Amino acid sequence: MRRILTLILTIIILAALGVAGLLGYTLMEGDAPTIALVPDIEAMGGEAVISVEVRDKGTGLKRIQGWLIQGNKEVRLKPTYNFKRLAWWKGTGFGSYPVAWKVEPRKLGLRDGSCSIRIEAEDASYRHIIKGNISRLEKVVQIDTVPPVIDVLSSVHNIRRGGAGLVAFRLNEPVSKAGVRVSDSIFFKAFPYGAKNTYLCLIALPFDYSGSGSMFIEAYDPAGNKGMAGFAHRVLGRRLVEDTIPISQGFLQRKMPDFITFFPDLKDDYKSLFLKVNSELRARNNAKLKEVCSSASLGTIQWKGRFKQLPNSIKRAGFADHRTYLYRGKKIDEAFHMGLDLASLKRAEVPASNDGTVIFADYLGIYGNTVVIDHGLGLCSTYSHLSEMAVKVGDPVKKGDIIGKTGMTGLAGGDHLHFGMLVRGVFVDPLEWLDAKWIQEHIVVNIPPQ
Ligand SMILES: [Zn+2]
Repeated sequence: MRRILTLILTIIILAALGVAGLLGYTLMEGDAPTIALVPDIEAMGGEAVISVEVRDKGTGLKRIQGWLIQGNKEVRLKPTYNFKRLAWWKGTGFGSYPVAWKVEPRKLGLRDGSCSIRIEAEDASYRHIIKGNISRLEKVVQIDTVPPVIDVLSSVHNIRRGGAGLVAFRLNEPVSKAGVRVSDSIFFKAFPYGAKNTYLCLIALPFDYSGSGSMFIEAYDPAGNKGMAGFAHRVLGRRLVEDTIPISQGFLQRKMPDFITFFPDLKDDYKSLFLKVNSELRARNNAKLKEVCSSASLGTIQWKGRFKQLPNSIKRAGFADHRTYLYRGKKIDEAFHMGLDLASLKRAEVPASNDGTVIFADYLGIYGNTVVIDHGLGLCSTYSHLSEMAVKVGDPVKKGDIIGKTGMTGLAGGDHLHFGMLVRGVFVDPLEWLDAKWIQEHIVVNIPPQ
């Protein structure tokens, strides 16, 4: 009996020692927290955010604190983050914690120039009995609270609704982002041009633009300071062209089967299928073209002189024509036509309208087989309804190179080329770019000498 008691007692004591040992082992762990600046920063502007990700593997985080140090001035970042232990034998449970300190260096009494960020993080380990494991991160950054100064170099900015223009400007310091904001909503990215922080920015107004016409240049330096500058400009109107398009039974029978795969439910109702294609698919395809052209990345002007029109072609429809679709004499739909329809012979060879690089060559719904060429600075041309495509994505092309043949793929009633142009995702009137005089007087005139 006594022996059994002794054995049980021994087991209990050993178990207790084991638990205590285990506790001691985990509570005395030596894994210090890790600290990272996310995102890493090299500069702080007038209003900066210091974002830090702190992690701890063992007992969890107990304290995170930060300072800005310039010369012998030390400013503590507020607040300091303290985390409570869950119980004396446990950690805090905070394995990671994201911290974001909002900082206005001037208000903290710091001047422009070098400054150190110091972050310390401590975990809940019982190492060193009172203090846990302490990690420290130090990073030297530049305080720069002065926004970039913008000097506008271009002077002619008469921009038509559905038309384009070019703004040139020079900055007094390198920037991380610059461009022109139109009507608060559309941002056109500017590209560096030559030396001395000079930038060129192609801009455009949507054809249905109804805003106030506010346009200004924005430039952000690496510290995040934003400089702004206005420029004299005029917004010119656009004459609305009306067009009616009768939709015949024959047309529906010829064209609708191409679109059944998009809306299989409507395979027995061609009129409803047409309405879906003309609205939903058109919107989807236009969005795709805008997306493709918004990602155009060539930063220098590729085009030389006027853009080349399909040879021996006549214009069948214009840019932004308002189309009313009639079925058995009644209006069933309407849409805007976002390009030029050019008709020549059937299966006529289609030349690239200017130099550039192919960034899209694929079937695209109502547009059928479509090629898109990036001409630099965000300017793109599009060629649709092709029966054949002779280029692929990535191909460099010169003005006049044959990129395919006209056809009637997509929602085309007859063989023709649908020729479109976009500036950074905004459809513009190709007629401007087919006109050497317009290019000279609205674009070239604004490019500063290098
Ligand atoms: Zn068209």
